[in-house]
Amino acid sequence: MRVLVLNSGSSSLKFRLLDMLEGGPQGEPKPGRTLISGAVKGIGGTATLELFTEGVGAPKETQSVPDHSTAIRWVFDHLAPLSQVEAVGHRVVHGGERFSQSVVIDDAVLTEIEALSELAPLHNPASLAGIVGAREVLGSTVPMVAVFDTAFHHTLPPAARIYALPHELAARHQIRRYGFHGTAHASLVAGYAAFTGSTLEKDRLITLQLGNGCSVTAIAGGKSVETSMGFTPLEGLVMGTRSGDLDPSIVSYLAQREKVDASEVERWLNEQSGLLGVSGRTNDMRELEEAAQAHDGRAALAIELFCYRARKYVGAYLAVLGGADAIVFGGGIGENSPEIRGRICAGMEWCGLFLDVERNKATVHLPPGSAAWISQDAASLAAYVVADDEESWIARETVRWLRSSPLSSPCEGED
Ligand code: ADP
Repeated sequence: MRVLVLNSGSSSLKFRLLDMLEGGPQGEPKPGRTLISGAVKGIGGTATLELFTEGVGAPKETQSVPDHSTAIRWVFDHLAPLSQVEAVGHRVVHGGERFSQSVVIDDAVLTEIEALSELAPLHNPASLAGIVGAREVLGSTVPMVAVFDTAFHHTLPPAARIYALPHELAARHQIRRYGFHGTAHASLVAGYAAFTGSTLEKDRLITLQLGNGCSVTAIAGGKSVETSMGFTPLEGLVMGTRSGDLDPSIVSYLAQREKVDASEVERWLNEQSGLLGVSGRTNDMRELEEAAQAHDGRAALAIELFCYRARKYVGAYLAVLGGADAIVFGGGIGENSPEIRGRICAGMEWCGLFLDVERNKATVHLPPGSAAWISQDAASLAAYVVADDEESWIARETVRWLRSSPLSSPCEGED
């Protein structure tokens, strides 16, 4: 079955058309060839389209793309013939209380996802536009599945799930810790299991997804038991432009002092803080590493804070899990920066974490879906890097859920 995966971010749309095959481990579908992949970046202004056909890049295109519907139509112009798209998997950021698993999209599901935009105004509208746009082009006969970023964290136990707010107030407004980046953490776990041959039942893992958005999750027996993002993806680690944890009093204090409303402060916390805010320079870790080497003190401080916060969470999650068997790095920074991985793990020998300097240094730019081991042979807390392949994971979920729905159609290409 040919599955198109659409991953709509606030200003981007990543896409990948994959051949899904039968014959994966435990009868699971497995990804075959990627036929077409790419991304539209810069939605909301002048956007670029990057397109790869069977891995070969086409010249970048540029045009004005005011919204996600326009981006979708632009992508579909390059997917001819459209009949090759047999199913679509959509990444949706917020599934609220309602969606604890992926779901085949029908009109009722679409309405529910729409209603969840209230909880995630910065994130769900993009996913929704992706679904609506794809239905407009493909019609409603091509089956579609929504894969939620929050679903993986539905297993959080009560103490990890709630805030210490008045109970009725929190319930009335559905305020709780939802957790995000679920597809990324699930694919890090799947990558670890495939690489080590673990069945996951007894493993305690700490997965670190370090990209522009960053989060860390504690995993016991393959299930999420604690995670750093909460009611929104703002909580937790220091990120590219997001502050992560801070004292909530700062919001009203800043609003008063700067004579703006709280939503403006929230925007600063989401868009102008984190690595960008502290360095005053960029949210791009590569550039920061170069600047720090050239003795830019604020770039160095931003990196220090980033690694310190991540290490603090790893320590906390060791307490949550009662120790861990492995920590797993993923995301653009986690996959490609030996320096940052080394700094996060520095001084963690007390819990058996010893990185192997050479293995760590050699692990950059892994092929998607592959993994590497970066700790010393004798380390009792092992460390791995997984080049997480979120799109393949979403495609797998899509086939899995279509199989179990009345619309199910089997995969092709048995091997
Ligand atoms: P997103 O969360 O938007 O998917 P990515 O996972 O692509 O983001 O991660 C983007 C981050 O990864 C950027 O900060 C970028 O600088 C960083 N990154 C990518 N390659 C490297 C590298 N070789 N060294 C350090 N940081 C890197």
